[in-house]
Amino acid sequence: MTAYPFDAPASQALLERALAVTPGGVNSPVRAFRAVGGTPRFMVSGHGPYLTDADGREYVDLVCSWGPMILGHGHPAVQQAVAAAAAKGFSFGTPSENEVALGEEIVRRVAPVEQVRLVSSGTEATMSAIRLARGYTGRSIVVKFAGCYHGHVDSLLAQAGSGVATFALPDSAGVPKEMAAETIVLPFNDLDAVEAAFAERGSEIAALITEASPGNMGVVPPAPGFTEGLRRITAAHGALLISDEVMTGFRCSEAGWFGLEAGEQGYAAGAPDLFTFGKVMGGGFPAAAFGGRADVMALLAPVGPVYQAGTLSGNPVATAAGLATLQQCTPDLYARLGEVADALTAGLDEHLSAAGVPHVVQRAGSMFSVFFRDGQVRDYDEARAQHVPAFAAFFHSMLSQGVYLPPSAFESWFVSGAHDDVAVDRVLAAIPAAASAAAE
Ligand code: PLP
Repeated sequence: MTAYPFDAPASQALLERALAVTPGGVNSPVRAFRAVGGTPRFMVSGHGPYLTDADGREYVDLVCSWGPMILGHGHPAVQQAVAAAAAKGFSFGTPSENEVALGEEIVRRVAPVEQVRLVSSGTEATMSAIRLARGYTGRSIVVKFAGCYHGHVDSLLAQAGSGVATFALPDSAGVPKEMAAETIVLPFNDLDAVEAAFAERGSEIAALITEASPGNMGVVPPAPGFTEGLRRITAAHGALLISDEVMTGFRCSEAGWFGLEAGEQGYAAGAPDLFTFGKVMGGGFPAAAFGGRADVMALLAPVGPVYQAGTLSGNPVATAAGLATLQQCTPDLYARLGEVADALTAGLDEHLSAAGVPHVVQRAGSMFSVFFRDGQVRDYDEARAQHVPAFAAFFHSMLSQGVYLPPSAFESWFVSGAHDDVAVDRVLAAIPAAASAAAE
């Protein structure tokens, strides 16, 4: 393993304690530095655009907790909402007003969503949406795309992105063969492959699930017309279309990727039937949701026969955090996120070009990532055909200069409304040396 000039003794000591009680020392694999080497930083606090680690070093944070922290860390309005909610109690196990208000906010923002059910993680949201689609159609097969990650649901782990991509696992051990046989995996952005799969097995397919705009193999937006094609093909075969907006929801626009792609006109071919949300809508707390057409949602217990439940679903503190966060997600915020992404992507492009490093920067709203290869990336095979060691060198140079990037070449980078010009300039100042490191 390469020795990195910048050591982190307090993080290393915590890692050693963690390794004794937790596999790999982390509670979610993408947090480990396995793909880039070195010691994962144990963070002790976050303020605005910055994180501080156990050694007292400060970083400009371009991970933002993998998406949720769209306002930056410790936003005062969210802190107040959380404190006020917690002062009234932590969990009631009954319905409460905050969850109604959060549901109303989601329905108001995303036009095709008529009803929602709150859950505690994106994984639960996609798992429940799949069960609902199977219950609604009476069919069992699910179609997904290689490189898309929908949480660690058994049937959705095949050729998944995010940590599964980072660690180059084809699938996960522990998923029964029978379960994997219920999943068809296709290349993203390839409508011919979708047509062919539905021509062959359309009457058995319950749903096609896609990341609205994938961010878990790096950022790979759908080609123009791709989402509409998915809508057309699924509708023609009586299968549901599930748009996974756990990452893009309320991040790419006030109405997520749907708001950006469908714009004022909506989709000519019709909206997706079901959506899944998470990350931003919980404001850093465990809150997620799935929702969509009222006639489909009506199949959920206690109204219908599809069972789904959760002790902490709609938790009053988490929903207060989510609601306070969404209330700050205004057009001004999205304009600022766009400016920050403009500045950073331009700086990346300029300095990687100057250093002669093959690269392409791809973007979806304010989400972006760099692929260390030439040419546009349209699917998972193309995403994998990049020079991962160049990413690792770039990552460690940025880290040593106080910029925290996702420790994987297959992840989106995230910015927040707290990334002011000082923070942006700190990132821009670090890029030239990192570009040189990537060139070596
Ligand atoms: N769907 C997408 C698109 C995601 O990016 C993620 C997490 O990164 C999930 C689902 C799973 O969400 P969670 O990690 O909250 O279970």
